Amino acid sequence: LVPLPHRGASCPKPGWQPSGTGMDGPSPLPSLIRKKRDGERLEDAEIQSFVRGVTEGTAQQGQIGAMLMAIRLRGMDAAETLALTHAMASSGRTLAWPPAWHGQVVDKHSTGGVGDKVSLALAPALAACGCKVPMISGRGLGHTGGTLDKLEAIPGFRVSQSPEQMRHILERVGCCIVGQSAELVPADRVLYGLRDVTATVDSLPLITASILSKKAAERLSALVLDVKFGGAALYPTQESAREVAQSLVEVGTQLGIRTAALLTRMEQPLGRAVGNALEVLEALECLEGGGPPDLRHLVTALGGVLLWQCGMAAGAEQGRERLARALDDGSALATFEAMLGAQGVTPDTARGLCAGTPAQRRQLLGEAKVCEELPAPQE
Ligand code: URA
Repeated sequence: LVPLPHRGASCPKPGWQPSGTGMDGPSPLPSLIRKKRDGERLEDAEIQSFVRGVTEGTAQQGQIGAMLMAIRLRGMDAAETLALTHAMASSGRTLAWPPAWHGQVVDKHSTGGVGDKVSLALAPALAACGCKVPMISGRGLGHTGGTLDKLEAIPGFRVSQSPEQMRHILERVGCCIVGQSAELVPADRVLYGLRDVTATVDSLPLITASILSKKAAERLSALVLDVKFGGAALYPTQESAREVAQSLVEVGTQLGIRTAALLTRMEQPLGRAVGNALEVLEALECLEGGGPPDLRHLVTALGGVLLWQCGMAAGAEQGRERLARALDDGSALATFEAMLGAQGVTPDTARGLCAGTPAQRRQLLGEAKVCEELPAPQE
């Protein structure tokens, strides 16, 4: 566990101001690229100018690629990373919540793992405990599955929801799991695409700004990060995962989001099921108080930290117990059913999935056309 930052306030810092470059405004893009290429630090206004060029389309692809590579090779300090995160978060719309939700709006981010269906159980369980969870999730990346792909195994489930629809669902249900809207953080869309083709995906400041700009645009009160390490994770060693976690916690805290990270092992699949529909089935087992112990452990550990972070539990352990109760007493499952209904699933399908037998559930989700048994060669 990365030391929990309590020096952060409970809401985004209204007083954050960029430090300028003086009276003359930022230099033209080629000189900013040269500056970073030569290992100098960029001022806040220069970073804003770069991101404006990305968002407005005035920066050429070659220039953006060159700047990304300069950042990849020369790095950014914490203040530059914070400025980049802010500039990206402000590149599009931001979400807005009623004042009554102050301190309760939470989310989690995972760096991705095999069989990771935590979000499916965690979002409704947190909502059942009184949090508001506007979870913006992603698609599969490499060998790791995406939460949106898993949810789309449920007939009728719509991952595309406007900010207004998200707010409406949070008012009625308490949680939603959606894809990123085109209006949210458009700069990340451009930068992420170019990082992929310029071998700059693995830059720590770029990873930090990419993840946290989306969380800042969500106007979160608290965020928990599940940073995985091991053979099947993006980060092979605990040390490399810790470095990412520390950067995310530091910048997240400076954004005014209470941010914590768990470093978790990914040497083997989480739970026993891998594959979209199978993972929905396993998440349902977790939501009714059962399922594999490692999945339940991770859901309750991450949720427990969040309940602590937003003041709904006296500590992480009490938070974990509160979350476990929501899984055991049926309230998390009822919230999941309500979320399915709010995101386009018919009442019959939502009921069948949440109250049906395993066989009925499998029938609703459909079976793969090809099933092959792989028996273990020995005990
Ligand atoms: N997820 C993101 O959104 N961005 C990254 O750079 C890595 C993971």
